[in-house]
Amino acid sequence: MNQQLKQDQQNQNELLQTAVHAATEFLTTLPERKAAVFPQTPANRPNLPEIGLGGEAALRQFRQRFEAGLSGSAGPRYLGFVTGGSTPAALLGDWLASTYDQNPTADEDSIAPQVEQEAIHWLRQLFGLPEAFAGTFVSGATLSNFVGLAQARQWIGQQQGINVAEEGMWAVRPFPILAATPHSSAKKALAMLGLGRRAVTPVPTLPNREAMDVAALAEILATLDQPAVVIASGGTVNTVDFDDLQALAELKQKFNFWLHLDAAFGGFAACSPQFAHLLAGQEAADSITIDAHKWLNVPYDSAMSFTRHPDLQLAVFQNTAVYLGELGETPSLVHWTPQNSRRFRALPAWMSLLAYGRSGYCDIVERNCAQARWLGEQIEQSAQFKLLAPVQLNCVCFAVAKANSLKDIQAFLAKVRDDGRTYLTQTVYQGQPAIRAAFSNWQTEQRDVEICWQALCELVEIGD
Ligand SMILES: *Cc1c(COP(=O)(O)O)cnc(C)c1O
Repeated sequence: MNQQLKQDQQNQNELLQTAVHAATEFLTTLPERKAAVFPQTPANRPNLPEIGLGGEAALRQFRQRFEAGLSGSAGPRYLGFVTGGSTPAALLGDWLASTYDQNPTADEDSIAPQVEQEAIHWLRQLFGLPEAFAGTFVSGATLSNFVGLAQARQWIGQQQGINVAEEGMWAVRPFPILAATPHSSAKKALAMLGLGRRAVTPVPTLPNREAMDVAALAEILATLDQPAVVIASGGTVNTVDFDDLQALAELKQKFNFWLHLDAAFGGFAACSPQFAHLLAGQEAADSITIDAHKWLNVPYDSAMSFTRHPDLQLAVFQNTAVYLGELGETPSLVHWTPQNSRRFRALPAWMSLLAYGRSGYCDIVERNCAQARWLGEQIEQSAQFKLLAPVQLNCVCFAVAKANSLKDIQAFLAKVRDDGRTYLTQTVYQGQPAIRAAFSNWQTEQRDVEICWQALCELVEIGD
C-alpha cells in the first residue's frame, strides 16, 4: 500500500479529529463570516504532487489557501437565491452518509433504501401529500423538474401510442407545454429532454402578479385537439406567487393535461397552518418538485421528486440489465432516477426530520416568513427603497429608489457583498431591475434581519 495511504489508515482517528476541529471552528465563526466572498483566481496552481502529502497536510493546505474564500452562505445573514443552511442533525447525517458510503440503489445488500423510503414517508406527511405519491431523492430541484417532465413526455407519448423511452421522440407529434412563470430550470429540463426551451407557450399572468391566469389557460386548453403539459409554480422566485392549484385541479376534470408542480421551496408552505392554503389542490398534480437543500436545511445536494405515476417514471429511468434482474413488485432505486449509483442522500433528511419533527420545520418556516414580512415593512416605510410586491412567504422583492438600471442595482449589490454583513441577489420584476432577499435558514434570528437592514440603509447612502 502507498505510504501516505497506509499512514492515514493508521491515523484515521486523529485525522477525523482534525476534521472535527476544522468544522467546529468554521461553524462557530459562521455567523461572523462574510455572507459572500468574491472569489480571487489563485496566482498559480501547484502541480499534482508525485508523492502525496497525506490527509492532515492536505487539510492544512486547503485551510491556508482557501478557507478565507469560503462564503457564509450557510449562515444566518445570507439572503441570496433561496439557499438554506444545514441543521445540526442534517450535518450529522451527511457526515455519516459519507462515512457509511452506502449505495442505496442496490436493495439486497444494505438497509439504506429502506431508510430512504422512511424519509420519503415522513416528507409526504410534512407536505400533506397523499400516500398515492411515490417519492425519490435526486440531487436538486432542477433534476426533479427533469424527472417530472420526463414522465410528462412519456405520458404524452402514451396518449399518442408511442413509448418514448423505447422509441424516442422521432414519431411524437409536437405537443403544447404551457406555463406562466416557470423557473429557468424547468426550461433547462426541457432542453435536456430534447423538447427545447422554446417549447413553452406562455400563459398570461393575473394583473400585477406572477401567478397564472387560469381562465386564460382554460381558453387555450379549449382550443387544443390533443393532450398538453402544464407546468405550475408553487412559489415563484421573485414574489413567491402560487398558481391557483385548486382551479388547476378543477380544470383537470375538464381537460386532458399533465400537471407538473414546481414547488421547490414553496412546498414548505404546507408545514405551517398559516400558509398551507397556498398549496390547496396540490394533490391534483401528476408530478411535484420539492428541494431539500433549500428549506429542509440539509446540505447540498438534495431534492425530492414525487409522482402519481411510478409506472411512467420506471418506464423512463429503468436500467434493465441481466445482472440487475427483472423489475419486480418494488423495483430498486436504480430504476427510478437519472442516476444509477449514488450516495446515501436520504440520511441527512431522515436525521433532521426525526430530530426536529413537524413543529421544528413549522418553526423554521414561520420564523423565516415573519422575518421577510418585517423587512418588507421596513422597506415600505423607507424613502430609499421601494417594495415591488406584497411579501407572500419568505422572499422580499424590492427596488432601490435611486437605482434605475440593472447596472446600478449590480453596483449596489457588489457594495453589499463586499461589506459582508449580508448578501442579496438581483432580478428583474415586471421589467424593473430589482433585488430579492430570501429567508430560508434555520439560524436566522430577528437581530440578523436588523443587521441586514442596517447594512442596506448605510450602504445605499454612500455614493459610488
Ligand atoms: C431553486 C429552484 C429550482 C432549481 O433548484 P436547484 O436545487 O438549484 O436545482 C427550481 N425551481 C424553483 C422554483 C426553485 O426555486
